[in-house]
Amino acid sequence: MSYPQLAIDCSKIYHNTKALIHRLGLKNIMVIPVTKICLGHPIIAQVLINAGATILADSRVENIGKMRRAGITQPIMLIRSPMISQVTEVIQYCSISLNTELSVIQGLSCAANKLGVIHDIIIMVELGDLREGLMTEDLMAFIEKIIFLPNIILKGIGTNLACRYGISPDNTNMSQLSDLADAIEKKFDIQLDIISGGNSATLNWAFNNVSKTRVNQLRLGEAVFLGTEALHQDKIEGLFCDFITLTAEVIESKIKPSLPWGQQALNAFGETPKTCDRGDVSQAILALGRQDVSIAGLKPPNGVTIVSSTSDHLVVETSKILEVGEKIEFHLTYGGILFAMTSPFVDKLFLKY
Ligand SMILES: *Cc1c(COP(=O)(O)O)cnc(C)c1O
Repeated sequence: MSYPQLAIDCSKIYHNTKALIHRLGLKNIMVIPVTKICLGHPIIAQVLINAGATILADSRVENIGKMRRAGITQPIMLIRSPMISQVTEVIQYCSISLNTELSVIQGLSCAANKLGVIHDIIIMVELGDLREGLMTEDLMAFIEKIIFLPNIILKGIGTNLACRYGISPDNTNMSQLSDLADAIEKKFDIQLDIISGGNSATLNWAFNNVSKTRVNQLRLGEAVFLGTEALHQDKIEGLFCDFITLTAEVIESKIKPSLPWGQQALNAFGETPKTCDRGDVSQAILALGRQDVSIAGLKPPNGVTIVSSTSDHLVVETSKILEVGEKIEFHLTYGGILFAMTSPFVDKLFLKY
């Protein structure tokens, strides 16, 4: 066991996934758990599958490749528009991808043709948040260009809201998506199986919606792992919000003045931190730094205040004196988890269920 250490409680991920699949199932909405927060970690992917996920999603081909090499055989959706330089890997690893660019879909078509496989696509539609997606007025002409491309099947349409500007999914934009699906089916005489209504920001709408909708899929990361919806970060009833903790070890503990002395110039990061005299403080250094975690993503326990950080040190002030060797447990924000998962210095401990 080594520190800093992420402890990942797989039973909480399992519970959350199962609960969301069940509750959204009652609304005829399929849950696709999004694995980017855990960089497509195969152990977690398997937990999601055991909990009932029949398809997974990730934003990075590298993460999807990792799951494939670990023996995950379920369909996996690529949810960031593919890089045209990566179309071959996309075809090799992903059964389906979200798309917005003609040249990319043509590239996917060529690669799929060469490899002798069929690749499904979902076309993303812009509904106001101004990240990925075709403007609605361009949709029909676009589909005309891709519909007969070899080895490509148009499975549906989708949208992504809230990530850039916090634009909320509501009856207006969700109905618009449904109507567009109807119109496409009519014009091209095809059936669209998937209407992908968004991410964890679409949950409140989905739970509360009573009108008829064609939205039948959500891509959920935050809700599955953190048990929160994305618009207000409200807890979702009955879900766990604490599947992961980061534990770091105390390497120095002293009573020190709060005010530094000597001439102040730039610190190691080119900053000039403000100083003020708060008298003597109980200061501890943890073996945890900017190479391990984004400091802004750390939520310290009661009685511990983060005051500074460098590449390898986290300086905290505490209400009681800490012992050298003592372990301090932090909770993490979404960003904090992402960063800590990425650091090769952070040990990952999977608590099985
Ligand atoms: C990250 C992402 C998701 C999942 O978002 P959460 O808010 O974590 O549920 C869904 N769709 C796309 C396109 C994404 O990039």
